[in-house]
Amino acid sequence: METYPCIFCKIAAGSAPAKIVYQDAEITAFYDRHPRAPVHVLIIPNRHIDSANDLSESDAALIGRMFLTAVRLAGDHRIAENGYRLILNTGRDGGQTVPHLHLHLLGGQRIHLGLNH
Ligand code: 5GP
Ligand code: ZN
Repeated sequence: METYPCIFCKIAAGSAPAKIVYQDAEITAFYDRHPRAPVHVLIIPNRHIDSANDLSESDAALIGRMFLTAVRLAGDHRIAENGYRLILNTGRDGGQTVPHLHLHLLGGQRIHLGLNH
């Protein structure tokens, strides 16, 4: 499974430590090591994809499952009702620091990261 020396590939493969909250054949979800909110989970594809720029039509179901996993984990963490933020940073200007596609699930308090009004 692990073809890149990438920290998120290693977490998905179980060769680097992380607090994993959900894993299946395609997706791993784990707690961010520097949480920016009471609930801060990262949802990643197990397969290495650099960023949203590298997605193709054949990844549509995978992306759908990543979002649905985030929504389900929001329910599991009892933040669904009060709300939460899903963030997918892409590239330098998007603030992406780890070049393995990941969806942030943030909640448990009012989120002041990203777009606010
Ligand atoms: P980005 O800024 O790329 O959208 O988000 C990367 C996130 O990954 C950051 O919130 C950062 O704290 C988290 N992160 C980076 N390296 C690790 C790690 O080795 N383990 C965990 N659990 N989170 C990490
Ligand atoms: Zn990777």
